[in-house]
Amino acid sequence: MDFNNFDYEKLTKTLSALVKKYAFASVFSCGKSVLGRDILCIRIGKGKRKIFLNGAHHSLEWITSSLLASYACDYAAALKDETEFCGENILKLYQSAAFYIVPMVNPDGVNFVINGIKKNSPAYGVVKGALGGRNVKKVWQANANGVDLNHNYDASFAEGKKMEREMGIFGANYTRYSGEEPFSEPETQAVKALFEKEKFDISVAFHSQGEEIYYDFAGNTKYKRTAEALAKVSGYTAAKPGGIASVTGFKDWVIDKFSLPAFTVEAGKGQNPLPFSQFEKIRKDNYALITECAFLRL
Ligand SMILES: [Zn+2]
Repeated sequence: MDFNNFDYEKLTKTLSALVKKYAFASVFSCGKSVLGRDILCIRIGKGKRKIFLNGAHHSLEWITSSLLASYACDYAAALKDETEFCGENILKLYQSAAFYIVPMVNPDGVNFVINGIKKNSPAYGVVKGALGGRNVKKVWQANANGVDLNHNYDASFAEGKKMEREMGIFGANYTRYSGEEPFSEPETQAVKALFEKEKFDISVAFHSQGEEIYYDFAGNTKYKRTAEALAKVSGYTAAKPGGIASVTGFKDWVIDKFSLPAFTVEAGKGQNPLPFSQFEKIRKDNYALITECAFLRL
């Protein structure tokens, strides 16, 4: 499987092959993007603990989609052959947890970064305006409306809005514009609906970069111990985010509204989009982290 330049077409191909090959894995759409692409979710595992993993809220960070799709494929192959997986008995993992994996929250943005934007795209005008002459492949983090999806959640939204205005952002932008109101975007609405239905026991949103695990929201450090357990197996550092990174994100909303453990993992190190040469290390570190979610004490 080719996980480099992992755009929406590679994702759909990979997931179609996955469900065709393994009857115990299923894929469903939990909503649509602005441009009508499906927000796909893989479901695998039979255990009581429900684990939610999502990637690529930010389009420059598509390597997190590669990571999550690759985890699902390798898990499935190990389960079929009943081999050990990440040092664990695969049947034990299968019986311990049910994984819900949304590898690509922002498929439109990912495709802009990997394939560029065509003049006939319905988003062309908005994207060109929001770029202000910048190169879409180098800077685009938002969805097709120029909204930063990880600033579109309902957690200290007014405070986040104030911070972005201080940065000079007042509308559609390649990064950090939070939208008109919380959940104004179809992609965050899809995540919200899925979360409200399943109320996951633990959630991890994958971003890049920094090799850090963020665990707090507005001074709530209840999940520090869990973050430290994840840090121990991955080699990453449990840390508190600062400034605009600390509000209106997915994990902030889950901690604030549901009092359930949620984390932001900043995979890899360097400048986004990370070079694909990092993929093997990202995979090794985060396979351990993801698997630990099934077994750690909550
Ligand atoms: Zn990010």
